[in-house]
Amino acid sequence: MYRAYASRAFNDQFDNQEHIKRTLALRQERAELLGYQNHAEYVLEDRMAESVDTALAFLETVYEKAYPAAQKEVGEVAAFAKELDGIDVLEAWDWTYYSNKLKEKLFQYDPEELRPWFKVENVIDGLFTVAKKIYGISMKQVHDVPVYHPDVTTWEAHDADGSYLGLLYIDLFPRETKRGGAWKSSLKGQGLYPDGMRRPQVMIVGSLTPSTDTQPSLLRLDEARTIFHEFGHALHSLLADGYYHGLSGTSVLWDFVELPSQIMENWLLEKEALNLFARHYETGEPLPQELLDKVIAAKNFNAGNFNINQLRYASLDMAWHTTHPSEIEDVDAFEKQATKRFALMQVHPGTNTSCAFSHIFAGGYAAGYYSYKWAEALEADAWSLFEERGIFDPETAAKFRKYILARGNAFHPKELFEAFRGRPLNPEAMLKRDGLI
Ligand SMILES: [Zn+2]
Repeated sequence: MYRAYASRAFNDQFDNQEHIKRTLALRQERAELLGYQNHAEYVLEDRMAESVDTALAFLETVYEKAYPAAQKEVGEVAAFAKELDGIDVLEAWDWTYYSNKLKEKLFQYDPEELRPWFKVENVIDGLFTVAKKIYGISMKQVHDVPVYHPDVTTWEAHDADGSYLGLLYIDLFPRETKRGGAWKSSLKGQGLYPDGMRRPQVMIVGSLTPSTDTQPSLLRLDEARTIFHEFGHALHSLLADGYYHGLSGTSVLWDFVELPSQIMENWLLEKEALNLFARHYETGEPLPQELLDKVIAAKNFNAGNFNINQLRYASLDMAWHTTHPSEIEDVDAFEKQATKRFALMQVHPGTNTSCAFSHIFAGGYAAGYYSYKWAEALEADAWSLFEERGIFDPETAAKFRKYILARGNAFHPKELFEAFRGRPLNPEAMLKRDGLI
């Protein structure tokens, strides 16, 4: 199964190698027509990172710390597999099985155990309580707004002084016609309209665990995190204070847009915030500290491997889009060369990533895959200021609101981030949080 999966669209009836070459040639042609050296340079000009060099230097900083950590992790899993089942050489297809076994042994915690503390109503209520404590805003359910499905609830957001901020639709459960995943959309952006300034209307949508006849909707921790994440995007719109709606709210540069959403997730794992809402749905008891400690301890398990995996994708993406297509003869050989230094286990001939790398060849991430890590670094660095000053520190929250949430794309995100953080982005906070330094 591993071999089949890792060789999708490579040397089979749907082989993508020629499509890759053609795509790269066209991207190069466009970049040159517009006066750029290559596709990556063309893309990066309109990103917070601004240049290929900055993005690559950033990836390199993470690599230096993550690679040794990942090697150590592989060694530990290999030793465990040997001890458990006499496995002599740990292969890529053994990795998930044995690392999960090891994780179970080390942390003895099943994510399902947490569900009773995360009844969906409690999570939403808790999220709004947390948002009020951070920004002073209040969310009030309203029943006089037409909705497109009975599952949808509507909420008005009001600022601390009572002024109206916007309308939020919440639509969290699966339906036959709904696609999977979770997202936030804007029905109407904040800003100037022919009849004056208007406040936004936004929605957060997901397909989370629904209730049953006998049980309310009890969420997994990662589902609760999804609600916090999407609400973070919603706040970017609800707290927008721009003039043109095309430049307002979440219409920001690609590698900046996940900062407001990812930072919201942090409050979910803070005792101070959890105590406000994580109550057992039957007994009303707070979440036991012991369980929370295990969740936090298990968080960084195999962080090195996770990082290296993302860096491998990001570097491969950059290699494709910074090399002149005329220099690329063999798609597979090019990939193997570009990803050599990320290998942690034996790489098997006949497997290939690029042919099924839809993010960069079929999606919008071409020369932008690095932005996953970039956004994480931004968010960890921003969050470290909250950690320093207190997670509900009013002054830090006011700064975050003013510089990050309110300004949209009316200023360069670099300026906004530096205005908030008081200095340029430093990836150290992310490395520290992942346990890599
Ligand atoms: Zn997001």
